[in-house]
Amino acid sequence: MPDLLPPEPVSAGPRAVLVAGFAEAVWLRPDGRVEQLEPQVAARRALVEGPIVCHAPATFRKLKSQRAPAADILELYAFVRPASFCLPTPRGLAEALGLPLANHADLAAQARMLAQATRALLGELAATSSKRRRIGGLARMMAKAGWIWGEAVMAALDSGGEISSLAGVGVWEDLPEWQDQAPEPAPSDLAVEPAEARRRLSDLLGPNAEQRPQQADYAEALTPAFGPRPAEDSPNVVLAEAGTGVGKTLGYLSPAGLWAERNKGAVWVSTFTRHLQNQIDQELDKLYPNPAVKAARVVLRKGRENYLCLLNLADLAGSAALRTQDAIAFGLMARWVMATRDGDLAGGDLPGWLPDILGSSRVASLADRRGECVYSACPHYGRCFIERSVRKARKADIVIANHALVMIQAALGAEDQRLPTRYVFDEGHHLFEAIDSAFGAHLTGQETIELRRWLLGAESGRASRARGLRRRIEDLILDDAAAITLMGEIAEAARALPAEGWLQRLQDKRPSGAVESFLHGLRLEVLARAPADSQGYGLEIDARPVADQVLAPALALDRELSRLQAPMRELAKRLANRLDEDSDVLDSNARLRIDAMVRGITRRAEMEVTAWRAMLQSLAQAMPPEFVDWFAIERVEGRELDVGFYRHWLDPTKPFIDAVAKPAHGVVITSATLTDGSGTEQAWEAAEQRVGARHLLSPALRVRVPSPFDYASQTRVFVVTDVQRTDMDQIAAAYRELFLAADGGALGLFTAIARLREVHRRIAPAIEQAGLDLLAQHVDAMSTASLIDIFRGERDACLLGTDAVRDGVDVPGPALRLIVFDRVPWPRPHLLHRARKSVFGGADYDDQLVRLKLKQAFGRLIRRADDRGVFVLLDRQMPSRLLGAFPAEVKVERLGLAEVIARTREFLGQYIPKE
Ligand code: SF4
Repeated sequence: MPDLLPPEPVSAGPRAVLVAGFAEAVWLRPDGRVEQLEPQVAARRALVEGPIVCHAPATFRKLKSQRAPAADILELYAFVRPASFCLPTPRGLAEALGLPLANHADLAAQARMLAQATRALLGELAATSSKRRRIGGLARMMAKAGWIWGEAVMAALDSGGEISSLAGVGVWEDLPEWQDQAPEPAPSDLAVEPAEARRRLSDLLGPNAEQRPQQADYAEALTPAFGPRPAEDSPNVVLAEAGTGVGKTLGYLSPAGLWAERNKGAVWVSTFTRHLQNQIDQELDKLYPNPAVKAARVVLRKGRENYLCLLNLADLAGSAALRTQDAIAFGLMARWVMATRDGDLAGGDLPGWLPDILGSSRVASLADRRGECVYSACPHYGRCFIERSVRKARKADIVIANHALVMIQAALGAEDQRLPTRYVFDEGHHLFEAIDSAFGAHLTGQETIELRRWLLGAESGRASRARGLRRRIEDLILDDAAAITLMGEIAEAARALPAEGWLQRLQDKRPSGAVESFLHGLRLEVLARAPADSQGYGLEIDARPVADQVLAPALALDRELSRLQAPMRELAKRLANRLDEDSDVLDSNARLRIDAMVRGITRRAEMEVTAWRAMLQSLAQAMPPEFVDWFAIERVEGRELDVGFYRHWLDPTKPFIDAVAKPAHGVVITSATLTDGSGTEQAWEAAEQRVGARHLLSPALRVRVPSPFDYASQTRVFVVTDVQRTDMDQIAAAYRELFLAADGGALGLFTAIARLREVHRRIAPAIEQAGLDLLAQHVDAMSTASLIDIFRGERDACLLGTDAVRDGVDVPGPALRLIVFDRVPWPRPHLLHRARKSVFGGADYDDQLVRLKLKQAFGRLIRRADDRGVFVLLDRQMPSRLLGAFPAEVKVERLGLAEVIARTREFLGQYIPKE
């Protein structure tokens, strides 16, 4: 029987509130009484009553139940405070709303706070004075579609029957229009002198700043990249390793900002993670303290697929009238459009948890994912977020981009026709993987069905907003009979590409069309030849020797692809000719649109189809020495996701240097972990190999600036010697006791998802009982970004994760004070890795990669001079030769678990005061 606690003097209004833990749930009844329930009981009751919850997917995952209808308070928050940050937890809401939450580990206190937060949000809405008509219209539309909050929101707005739901549609009409301006001339090429970079840094820091000589040395050392290059194709490249705490960002922004001002050109600062993009954006407040000036001089640029497309949102409004979830998504995204700074769906001001709640694919489908933009034919062109961002980048001094966008732009040509001349690649240790993925070619089911959708759009019977090529260009080719014929040929040939249901057909051995026939033979070949894998990971085999069941359909597919490629090329040529022939009648928007269409078609015909055909044709011969080819079935936990033929460069830095570095004049590649920490000449050579510096005509400059931190006193590093790394009970017990010894603030890193889940299952009850939050990638129904945000915001939370968590975590202060790694992170023995290992140094290559991973993980621990942290590796087989990953002054101690726990408690106990 559930335990009925005494009534509390708090009313949740007409709805109950549910807060779930791993072992129990708390139910706050509308009359204020609190019940403690078994999770299954709470889940069953939720089905009937639809209680208020905070983050419905995570709540029901904790209850181990299907998601039930619930009044998610985060939906209400997103409606009342769009584009405003809050952690998706009761504590996060309390902080955002300024409400008290004395004991955040007490589920009953959380439930009462959620009831209070509901009233506060509805009160705030009632007091809203601006755009009430628009907001009321959206609320009415959502209420009509069955939004659980609809009635309460309508009552708060007191809009009665006066406002039509149509008043909510058309939020885009309120957005400002961008204005086109004359193109900028090419930048000049005046150098930045070392003393000037130092002076600029000192000005940015101000007279009262703490003196950091390393930072000034670093800023000065980068100036060669901001001088004229000596010869064509010979950029000035600086490889700059700066230890954690040097202050890299302001260090490089000093010469970069000076160069941009002086030469009237843009410096592109490229990062790997969205977190660093946002951090750089904040640091730029120092360079541009006036927000209006900053808005004009700085732009955060991402690929088109990251921004909301207003035409897609308008299309959603059509289906929103029918389906509840679409109506809620439309309403909340429309509220966000009313408040967003730049329409960035990935890491901008869209709360990271909103896609968790609305459905990540529903939110992603609002972006221009496949390049289906119709440019000036779009009714929202003049207000489009993407077009605004592209235009701002042309005028900006500093463009904050990411590695993926830089690679794509270099490979496909810049959207505004001119490539940058100066780059700073921060997080340079991720450059290799960004390059590798940008320059690889995949002839797979997923890639080919994407091309079919891009060409044909939504096909019969499918509810989809996809616009095919014909729909995108039909008004441009109305009077061109030859172009219309070509369009027909393209549509006909595109039917050789896979349609919906292709993967199931492969599994049923009933392929349809040339691509599926090829993939069918390839899949059978992989299943026959791949080593058995009981873990459910992907299967892969070398692409040579080629069996007949693969080769014959490969050659047939090549012929089909040539039937598709020829009319695509011809159509692109005809459209391009119009730019020339009709130059007197085309206005600039029409020109830009045609140009974009030509580039879109050319990109697919020349880059995708050409690469695929080359791969297929080469199957009859030996593998080209510059590539690694393999066949694979991609699987997650045994479930097949994709099947195909993969080709990557053995050394992908070669095309990177040709496409990105050589056309530039100055390039800085910087990171705290460019080298593997071994301190040898080979370490620098390996770093140069990973960024392609050996393909440069003149050598790159090497710069190393040490960290100012006192690692010997700020950290402890332990290797545990008495835990059996294959025994999950022992591993889990070690995590549990270490996390408890640190009293939270702990990050558990894993080399495999299955091991993470095993540990989570075993330790969750004990961690919760100790009053600590336990978060886990691949377990919690939240995006990795949300998990990291919560971890950062809570001082004593514990987080379990794999590589993405390690790379995304930047947590200064005590919220991260312990890192536990489950075992030595050896590289996975993929075929691609095996091929690279054979030419990049054999076993030394493996060692370098492990040292780099450990060095990067260790680097997360200390972000400020007053941080303290413990790093533990639960793998007694850690070879001593890899210990160079840690700072030389840190003594790595090999001890038994009990001793490590005691030392961790003692070391961190002096650092962490009780809250
Ligand atoms: S211009 Fe293109 S990306 Fe922008 S709203 Fe229109 S279709 Fe979408």
